Amino acid sequence: VLKGISCFIVCVLGYGAMYEPIKTNSAIVVKKFGGTSVGSLERIANVAARVIADQKAGELPIVVASAMSGETNRLVKMANEVDPYYRGPAYDMLLASGEQVAISLLAMAIEKAGGKAVPLLAHQVGIQTDTIFSKARIVSIDTKKLLSYVEKGIVPVVAGFQGVTADDQITTLGRGGSDTTAVALAAAIGARECEIYTDVPAVFSADPRLVPRARELSRISFEEMMEMASLGSKVLHFRSVEIAAKYKINIHLRSSFEAREGTWVVSEDKMLENPVVSSVTHDPSTVVIKLYPVPEGVGFLADLFTQLAEKNIVVDIITQSFDDRGQRLNFSVPEEDLAQTELLLAKVVKKETSVEIMREMSKISVIGVGMKNHPGVAARFFQIFKKQEVPVHLVTTSDIKISAVVDKDNLKRVAEALHKEFDLDV
Ligand code: ADP
Ligand code: ASP
Ligand code: MG
Repeated sequence: VLKGISCFIVCVLGYGAMYEPIKTNSAIVVKKFGGTSVGSLERIANVAARVIADQKAGELPIVVASAMSGETNRLVKMANEVDPYYRGPAYDMLLASGEQVAISLLAMAIEKAGGKAVPLLAHQVGIQTDTIFSKARIVSIDTKKLLSYVEKGIVPVVAGFQGVTADDQITTLGRGGSDTTAVALAAAIGARECEIYTDVPAVFSADPRLVPRARELSRISFEEMMEMASLGSKVLHFRSVEIAAKYKINIHLRSSFEAREGTWVVSEDKMLENPVVSSVTHDPSTVVIKLYPVPEGVGFLADLFTQLAEKNIVVDIITQSFDDRGQRLNFSVPEEDLAQTELLLAKVVKKETSVEIMREMSKISVIGVGMKNHPGVAARFFQIFKKQEVPVHLVTTSDIKISAVVDKDNLKRVAEALHKEFDLDV
């Protein structure tokens, strides 16, 4: 089947990437199964049966799996108990171990059910990354070995979330990064599509666990999905959507438990209509840091944000203001980067500046490409906070989104109200 297939061995993704256009391997489908989908031995057996059935129907599957649900959290907790400030090779090696268990069990289950499968860690495949531990980016994938298994009817079962540096250190791609492994493999191989099997049947107009009246979206554009992912919706890892958009890989998100169509993430020209707001998205774990008064001028800001960047801490919203006592600086970081941020602030900030850390914060956003052409969205957005009497700590906007940081306790109420206000309720 694979005769005539392109033989580009290495596809370079990521920074300053040179992209070799690859002919589509139209029968190959990358199938990624998330933590809940492989969360028990019974579920692993179901996944195995599904993969074999699809193979019998003519697909050439390449499987990517995450760690069994709860496992990565358990590993993070243990690491933090040893040293919450440590980030580096040992942390990534520990976190990557969950996927090793899942792919071994899944490969065994496929064999038990009569198929042929081989479990592969990132270093065995040749998924090379940069050296930014915990947030590594894929720089190249060697597709030769994968294709040779596919050619022989053997299902490669690849560990998601992990990579290997040029000098053989294990890295991880950031929480939720198995999606990115799957889409990057699909791009490198030129797969027909990348299926993401998960514990919800579709991408919804809001997280259905937060907003029960959320509706299923049958299609969503790369642009909106990227915005959702970057604003905290964990249904797809941000980098996976970025790679899909760049290499035009259609993502097909669907349920592991039901045979339903799910959601297609596609380019904007395939969208039928552009509602003003297509989703309400939240990031449940943001921390707001308030510094006051900071040294005047931009010198301090430049130094602070440079040092945060050097630690690979993603600063999200930044605001500054002045009063008669001086300059006030507020910014937000993800909760997982708080320990590193505090460590750095203790070194950089002088005694005369007070540091206030506001935990238990969430960011709530409305997103829609239709917003570009419709005035008044911000007005409707802030009216909801007024009606609900919810204080807003930070705000940020772009032409297709508005976000506000609120106390976690107010998140659900305001999310449901926004969802209703923008006519998204089922
Ligand atoms: P997996 O382990 O399969 O990767 P994740 O937990 O990472 O699954 O992602 C799926 C979860 O994403 C769902 O259980 C759901 O709670 C959450 N989610 C957040 N926003 C959305 C959304 N807009 N649509 C669907 N699910 C969402
Ligand atoms: N197991 C990893 C995590 O929990 C990767 C993933 O699930 O995609 O973050
Ligand atoms: Mg996930």
